Amino acid sequence: MEKLVSLAKRRGFFFQSSEIYGGIQGIYDYGPLGVVLRNNVKRAWWRTMVELRDDVVGLDAGIIMNPKVWEASGHVQNFTDPLVECKKCHRRYRADELTSDRCPLDGGELTDARRFNLMFKTFIGPVEDSSTQVYLRPETAQGIFVNFANVLNSTRMRPPFGIAQIGKAFRNEITPGNSIFRLREFEQMELEYFVPPAEEMKWLDYWKDQRFEFYQSLGIRKENLRLRAHEKDELAHYARGAFDVEYSFPFGWSELEGIAARGDYDLSAHQRASGRDLTYFDDLIRERYIPHVVEPSAGVDRTMLTLLIDAYHEEEVRGEQRVVLKLHHSVTPVQVAILPLSRKDELTTLAKKVEHELRPYFRTEYDDTQSIGKRYRRQDEIGTPFAITIDFESLNDNAATLRSRDEMTQVRVPLAQLRGALVDHLR
Ligand code: ATP
Repeated sequence: MEKLVSLAKRRGFFFQSSEIYGGIQGIYDYGPLGVVLRNNVKRAWWRTMVELRDDVVGLDAGIIMNPKVWEASGHVQNFTDPLVECKKCHRRYRADELTSDRCPLDGGELTDARRFNLMFKTFIGPVEDSSTQVYLRPETAQGIFVNFANVLNSTRMRPPFGIAQIGKAFRNEITPGNSIFRLREFEQMELEYFVPPAEEMKWLDYWKDQRFEFYQSLGIRKENLRLRAHEKDELAHYARGAFDVEYSFPFGWSELEGIAARGDYDLSAHQRASGRDLTYFDDLIRERYIPHVVEPSAGVDRTMLTLLIDAYHEEEVRGEQRVVLKLHHSVTPVQVAILPLSRKDELTTLAKKVEHELRPYFRTEYDDTQSIGKRYRRQDEIGTPFAITIDFESLNDNAATLRSRDEMTQVRVPLAQLRGALVDHLR
């Protein structure tokens, strides 16, 4: 984990936020490569969950909502963690994460647990009092529930159908940590899938399998993934069943995504509190009901951390150590690096031309700094699956060397055939 975090900083995946001022806990900034990796994760999710389906539509709701939303949803009352404090050093902990009833650092006595609400508060408008207090959303899901009737009335969707959303969420976590695993500002990818009540468990079963497959399609190794059913005593009181997709992180098996059957809890609560009709009338069976919901809820940052951890390899090559990120080509920030062997004009001109020709089709990077060995090492470390080297021979034979990251093979390919060869490999 330490090595990965240092690589992430060195190569520009992510940095501690406001680092020059000493940072701020639980917030990270994403660098040039991190942004591309994130966007690729979000694009893959949106593609499978929305674009390739005819039963899901998208939504982008505000981060700040009417505070009545969070009263109705139960977050004001219940979105809390048990907080304890060491009487000696005043460090604070989540009581449910401790293994003893003493301070893990100095053995000091702990206070009784109090319920600490994780929602960030701010004010809307120029007056700061309790009537103008609002929250930063701690999940994107509620934006979907309160728009349920709007989507139903403005589209042709009917249950079973889903509404998907990707966006920032904020939680004032007591103990953020493990790099970008537990953050105070993060991004979620959530689907609320509305179904006829009798079909809820069938769809829970369907979505848990779909979601488990999704992580494998991003190239994450199956042996590091598992689906875990929630025990009865873990379930929220309204939930009929839930599964976590878990990954074997360096700090143990932990949640990547939660998939829960939430019954009609959310829509009923908002119908009660708002007085608006959130039922659906099925004119085929002439029945009116509040749809039940199955919710797969994933984190962009956690998926990104998982991809990086799973891809990180150290290998011994001819007596030297090589660090390589074996990221799947669909998500990796750079797919093809174009490297002129030297900075001689003839070579850089040809290399730039090759790069410009490939750029519309692949994520490319041109690099003419340092020795070729160092440049290969950099591309291995950022997970670039292919590198094209333009050498002096290229000027005569109109061909280049295509090097593969994983096999480390080098083959000579005519310039005119590079695009075709790459399409075959990166499909
Ligand atoms: P935990 O029990 O670990 O606090 P949770 O069960 O409350 O998590 P959910 O509310 O189910 O988490 O959130 C759905 C997903 O959102 C999680 O699986 C995770 O990927 C992401 N997520 C939740 N909280 C955080 C956080 N603090 N930092 C980063 N990602 C998060």
